[in-house]
Amino acid sequence: MSDSLFYESVTACDECDLLHRIPPLKAGERFKCQRCGHVLLNVYEQANGRILGASSSAILMLMLALSFSFLGFSSNGAERTVTLYEIISTLIAQDFLILSIIVCLALFIFPIVYLSSVLWLVWSFHNHNVSIELKRSLMRWVVAVRPWLMVDVFLVGILVALIKMNSLADIDLGLSFWAFCAYVVLLIKTIGLVDRRWLWNKVAGSGPNHVISEPLASARQQSLIGCHFCGATLEGKAHHCSRCGHSIHSRHPRSLIGCIAFLIAAAIMFVPANLFPIMLTTFVGNTEPSTIMGGVFLLWSLGSYPVALVIFLASIVVPVVKILSLSWLCWQCYFPSERDLHQKVWLYRITEVVGRWSMIDIFVVAVLAGLVQMGNLISILPGSAVLSFAAVVILTMMAANMFDPRLLWDNAKTVTPTTNAVDGKE
Ligand SMILES: [Zn+2]
Ligand SMILES: [Zn+2]
Repeated sequence: MSDSLFYESVTACDECDLLHRIPPLKAGERFKCQRCGHVLLNVYEQANGRILGASSSAILMLMLALSFSFLGFSSNGAERTVTLYEIISTLIAQDFLILSIIVCLALFIFPIVYLSSVLWLVWSFHNHNVSIELKRSLMRWVVAVRPWLMVDVFLVGILVALIKMNSLADIDLGLSFWAFCAYVVLLIKTIGLVDRRWLWNKVAGSGPNHVISEPLASARQQSLIGCHFCGATLEGKAHHCSRCGHSIHSRHPRSLIGCIAFLIAAAIMFVPANLFPIMLTTFVGNTEPSTIMGGVFLLWSLGSYPVALVIFLASIVVPVVKILSLSWLCWQCYFPSERDLHQKVWLYRITEVVGRWSMIDIFVVAVLAGLVQMGNLISILPGSAVLSFAAVVILTMMAANMFDPRLLWDNAKTVTPTTNAVDGKE
């Protein structure tokens, strides 16, 4: 198999379960589901070299981001400069261990696992001594940590924190801050270049072949199961995927009940997240607690309208809309309405994409608490709501991961093509 050609025999759409026979694709081509428009496969030009370059540069930039001063802060003659590592260690010293673990996982541990696994896998294409079991384990890590990479959200959180502090102090951006920006860009670039089906195909070969009938039907209708993890298609009696080893189900057995349980837990946690203060600010001896909405009103009154709007959207609107949307989608699986299926799928995709951006306020508090520590002159501490709000975001993300969108299509009677099978170069 050449680098520029992809051949996967048969695959089922991750979102609507429609079976497709993917034609041989050249570099620069992509393949979309003919029913729901979900992109099933992207084959990038010179993907190996570009992934190697982007992922190794991202790791290098992360090392630089940890080596020098990250942010400097001065107020009324007092100064403090911190490294990225000191932001985390300050949180630990203040006994906010869970918050520091969340920041470490999102910022360093998951990205390092992702980047080093991708790097090792692409390198293994040219080194045949790497065992298939090790490659499978690395691939599983790549797929599993992918939804939890939030470095871009953290970067926006830093920018919001800087705007928040603008009226109280002078902020200096250190050398590591710029290295961190490069790390974020390169990590996002790597994520964009790694196509799950393409990589599985390169690592473990194409999945089992099947004869599929025309017109196209869902995998379930043809007694097959599409593996959600690697994209292979297997016989309906199989319990594990023969390519990736992951357990497979025609539909996730506890999808709706699990999703509803996570949503109820998120809705419960949303109450303390908004009732209790998310941040405690001490300024010249006076300590003032502020809730999420209190912070939004304060920013609005200070004229920081865009930042107030970002926090309001990310911390209030997105979690509420996500809980309501996913609840409605679960309801639609039990009692399907005549409403256009494409609208339901569009809603599902939006909730999946925007949900992680609710972490902005958590990261704002983490950055400020790690940076602004000058005793009674000016200090910021995380409030008791910070963990309940982090729980809301994580629970809604788990609810979205639990929801099986294939359930929405089980009552679809006809296949209505929305796209060309191969829509050419990007
Ligand atoms: Zn589809
Ligand atoms: Zn699989």
